[in-house]
Amino acid sequence: MLIHDRGPTPAQTPGRQGWRVDRVVWHHTGGGSVAGALSWVTRPGSNVGYHYLVDENGVIFRVASENNTAWHAGNWTWNLRSIGICHPVNGGGVATRNASVALTRDICRRWGISPSVHTIVPHRAIVPTLCPGSLPMNDWIHLVAHGGEVTPPEPRWKESSMILRDRSNGAMWLVDASGRRHLTPGEAHGWLAGGAPSVDVDPGTINDIPPSGQLTLLADESTGAIYVVDALGKRHIQPPEFRALQDTNMARVIRVASSVVAGIPDMAATLQP
Ligand SMILES: [Zn+2]
Repeated sequence: MLIHDRGPTPAQTPGRQGWRVDRVVWHHTGGGSVAGALSWVTRPGSNVGYHYLVDENGVIFRVASENNTAWHAGNWTWNLRSIGICHPVNGGGVATRNASVALTRDICRRWGISPSVHTIVPHRAIVPTLCPGSLPMNDWIHLVAHGGEVTPPEPRWKESSMILRDRSNGAMWLVDASGRRHLTPGEAHGWLAGGAPSVDVDPGTINDIPPSGQLTLLADESTGAIYVVDALGKRHIQPPEFRALQDTNMARVIRVASSVVAGIPDMAATLQP
């Protein structure tokens, strides 16, 4: 695996203060490019640093040694025990996924970590944050754990998929049974070269199709409380975070009875040492 050393980030502390690395935390940039995040975390005075960043093309950058404590989790104990990896917004595409899965698998092997939803966790399970957005945690963890060969990055035309091109701005969207996903120009080129049909449509048509890779939110119908839910369990979110999620159009809200909410374990409980 080719790893490019950059930085280092000033946002790290030498050593692990007696802790052993037993967790990997996945992040995303939240919006900007990985190149932007790379320059941001390595600038003098930065107070956020990861160990690795994986860019849109699957290139891996290292800005802190795994033997040091990088400041990424927003929680000191978690920083001490974990390795932080930053991805493009919402995890990026297949190239990023393949590189991150290979890197994470290597980290798990070297540190004796058994890959699971308890050991490879989204930043949002540790502190209130949307990070890493709709990065498909379960799919990627499955690949880390059961790996072998990761699906080759060649985009293949599937009968159930098509490309919609936004007439107003040229943005390309992949549409299939799971909904729509914005494609980077490189990804769109790959799909089109692979024979996927494309159709020019008005923005309204695109907006009518639900985004794929949404987070599931449960709304307690008796109290109105909102919970973000994934394989780790549930976490209560505050109104500002809920509004931010709605603005990203990534959230799907399901109204349920209080008893359903009560039956789902809390994220924090599943993450105790
Ligand atoms: Zn994060």
